[in-house]
Amino acid sequence: MKNKHLTDIDIQTFVLQKANCDMSIIEHITICDECKMKAEQYNMLFEEIEQQEKPTFDFDLSDLMMDQLPQPKPKRLFENALIYGAAFTAFIVMSMVFYFLKDNLLGMVTTITPIFIYLIIITALGLSLFLCIDMYTKFNKRMNALNF
Ligand SMILES: [Zn+2]
Repeated sequence: MKNKHLTDIDIQTFVLQKANCDMSIIEHITICDECKMKAEQYNMLFEEIEQQEKPTFDFDLSDLMMDQLPQPKPKRLFENALIYGAAFTAFIVMSMVFYFLKDNLLGMVTTITPIFIYLIIITALGLSLFLCIDMYTKFNKRMNALNF
């Protein structure tokens, strides 16, 4: 039996890791009232620390960041007109192409075997899915980097 009282480190080891604790420490604590009281105090302290809420922000960080990001400048009327004009022109050209080549396009669709059409659709869908997943994972990584 030790005559000296246990050190704080010994008592903390007893409180936190009873399984790994030295037999002499356990024996001393069962005998010595003073060290037993210290151990109980440490026990209470550690329980209190565990019960403390983990510090978290009381605001949504992503919302706050989004507000501070520079807003895209509203496009001027001229730019809008240009974009709509280009889209309208493209639509007109495509309509004319479809109108004049109607018969040829229909012939092309009927001569292509359905398996090719399915392959093209599956490839397009797979590619879109892959791109969406990639974009989503990148977004999540960046948000996690912001949240620590
Ligand atoms: Zn003691």
